[in-house]
Amino acid sequence: MDVAMSRVGSMQTAINDVASYQLVGLSDSDGSKSPDVDALAALPRVNGVNMVQEIDASDDGSLEDSDDDDDLSAFEGTLGEMDDQHLFAGDPEACTYDEAIQYRNDLRTFGPAEFCARTVEAGAISAKKLLTAFNIKPPAFLKGASDDAYYSLLSLGISRELSKRIKLPQYNTIEDAVDLIKKSKNIIVLTGAGISTSLGIPDFRSKNGLYSMTGHLGLDDPQDLFSLEIFKEDPALFYSFAHVIIQEHAAFSPTHAFIHLLQQKGKLLTNYTQNIDNIEQLAGILPEKLIQCHGSFATASCIRCKHQVEGVQIYPDIRAKRIPRCDKCIASLRNLKVPNGMKRKRSQNGTDKKRRRFDSNSDSEDEEDFDIPEAGVMKPDITFFGEPLPDIFSERLTNHDKDKVDLVIVIGTSLKVAPVSEVVPYLPSNIPQMYISRDPVSHVNFDIDLLGDADVVVAELCRRLDWELNHDMVPKDKFAEVTLQEGFTSRHRFTIKQ
Ligand SMILES: [Zn+2]
Repeated sequence: MDVAMSRVGSMQTAINDVASYQLVGLSDSDGSKSPDVDALAALPRVNGVNMVQEIDASDDGSLEDSDDDDDLSAFEGTLGEMDDQHLFAGDPEACTYDEAIQYRNDLRTFGPAEFCARTVEAGAISAKKLLTAFNIKPPAFLKGASDDAYYSLLSLGISRELSKRIKLPQYNTIEDAVDLIKKSKNIIVLTGAGISTSLGIPDFRSKNGLYSMTGHLGLDDPQDLFSLEIFKEDPALFYSFAHVIIQEHAAFSPTHAFIHLLQQKGKLLTNYTQNIDNIEQLAGILPEKLIQCHGSFATASCIRCKHQVEGVQIYPDIRAKRIPRCDKCIASLRNLKVPNGMKRKRSQNGTDKKRRRFDSNSDSEDEEDFDIPEAGVMKPDITFFGEPLPDIFSERLTNHDKDKVDLVIVIGTSLKVAPVSEVVPYLPSNIPQMYISRDPVSHVNFDIDLLGDADVVVAELCRRLDWELNHDMVPKDKFAEVTLQEGFTSRHRFTIKQ
């Protein structure tokens, strides 16, 4: 099944439900103006999901261009971006954090109809202010508008809030986290670039990430680095930077070692990773426990004849920034006797070669063989834009993991990229979920947030679990200092004591 699409569908239904409720519920109260539900349709959308500007402490109040997202999927930028801790600091027109929590609880307790009756309809709070309880900043273009102009945005915030999983109240402390790991037997670990950055492998979006490193290439969109179409036109672009993803020396991080330790203890159900660096394999994660959601450099295939080889076979070319060619194609070309007439034809059309090859969309390999006697280009078996995701992902999630999982640990990903972003909402909401990353996210309600360098967090967890995490990068004589973030019950920050 297509998890992502079903999610979009349910979101839309929720938005429509709340919007139609509101038309009745709110307009009845003052008998005059009804909220403009057409405004819902006017909101920017991506793949059917409305874009809502989040509150940002550093924001100047203007609506940002919703097109400048550096996402890998339509979901990035559409769901909550701004964290609660920055939400309402010092803004008299916004809810305080405590008020926001109360409103969110009330919404769950009373349902949207009763909630609106008790709040906006009763005149207890303006729609504009109530928006902020749901992480939405009143947009600048509505400045000075009457309060009902904010109704459609409020309905969006309400529907989005209701679509979030509810945090389980019984899990909050580090001890809770340790106990959960101790007693769980089928843990899903979701990992992203944050578990490999300590090895010098860049992530995609951060300041020093891959996308910022490739600014000099003059791409319209950094995602073009992984565009299948562009790769076919000019594989040199991809091979000009691919070397940064593969390691010079084989190494894995303490976080990889931690996941391996979970496997050794018989607790790892599945490690879903967004990473394409294939370091999980190096760390000893068994193939049957590992889903590389975007493929990996473990293997490479010829884009013409599909001949597949071990990824390491093309590493020398990648390191030398050369375009690796297919051995099988080369071998068959050596045996190919090109007719004289064909040779002439080629030389006449030589300049047109590239365009003919890729615009024709020709699947006729025979014809290609004669037109372009050139060996196919090898491409690592990572999922490019324009390629389907591996089927194994949803197969594993729906048929194998969903009914077994007893704990979810998300590490080093902001969970904004499908399909990994779809794992958490898909799983039963009573399954405890914890989050290990540098920064918190607000579009998912985790039960426990363990914030900091992932390697530091897992080392401290192992220490408290009395597990031996032997790794060169884990200092033997330094322990993490753990502090509870002010105003939060389940958000802990890990730093190394100097
Ligand atoms: Zn080939």
